[in-house]
Amino acid sequence: MGMIALLFGLLVLASWRFRRLVVRAREGELEVRQRIENLERENAELLNALEQAREFAEHDGLTGLWNHRMILERLRQEVNRCGREGTPLTAIMVDLDHFKNVNDTFGHAAGDLVLKETGAIFQRMVRSYDWVGRYGGEEFLLILPGTNFVGARKRTEQLRLAVQTARILYGETAIPVTASFGAASGFPSGGESMVLAADAALYRAKENGRNCVMAT
Ligand code: GH3
Ligand code: MG
Ligand code: MG
Repeated sequence: MGMIALLFGLLVLASWRFRRLVVRAREGELEVRQRIENLERENAELLNALEQAREFAEHDGLTGLWNHRMILERLRQEVNRCGREGTPLTAIMVDLDHFKNVNDTFGHAAGDLVLKETGAIFQRMVRSYDWVGRYGGEEFLLILPGTNFVGARKRTEQLRLAVQTARILYGETAIPVTASFGAASGFPSGGESMVLAADAALYRAKENGRNCVMAT
């Protein structure tokens, strides 16, 4: 009788300990699951921050276009690609005309708006595989892969007309804007020579009275 009671007692004890182990295991599992969830959330936050940092590093803060460094990087890539594929390439340098006057007449915020709007015009008008960057203050650099001299002249003229006819409103005030364009087309050996050629053409466009296209 004493033996049976002892065995029974041991059985009760064992089942109680077993139940406690099961409860602890469940708690542990819950804790691990929560930790995994936390890690996953932190990971997503880090990826988000990384994406934002890259956006800041590669794009111009005002216009959202590629920044100086990135547009030149794109140009290098496209020069290489066009070299491999034997296709022509066009680089267009744009400079807003008498932009200092816009700032002086309407204020710096109006000037900023003009930069944003003209950048948006270029972005809207190019093809999906073209590149638009803010090269400097009021200068833009556009890269048109696969475009030759004839195509460049036609498309650059369309861009010029779009800027001239754009209705840029700063509050109630319409701000008149024009730009000068230098387009360089060909089968370049390097990006630098393209920028130099486009710059030289742009210089001639300014010399020629502004609001015009010079292509080379
Ligand atoms: P040109 O027709 O010969 O190009 O004359 P311009 O007045 O456009 O050229 P200039 O180089 O004399 O002046 C450029 C002006 O662009 C001066 C500068 O204050 C302005 N600018 C450059 N970056 C910005 C910007 O981010 N915002 C604003 N509002 N103005 C800017
Ligand atoms: Mg300039
Ligand atoms: Mg200018």
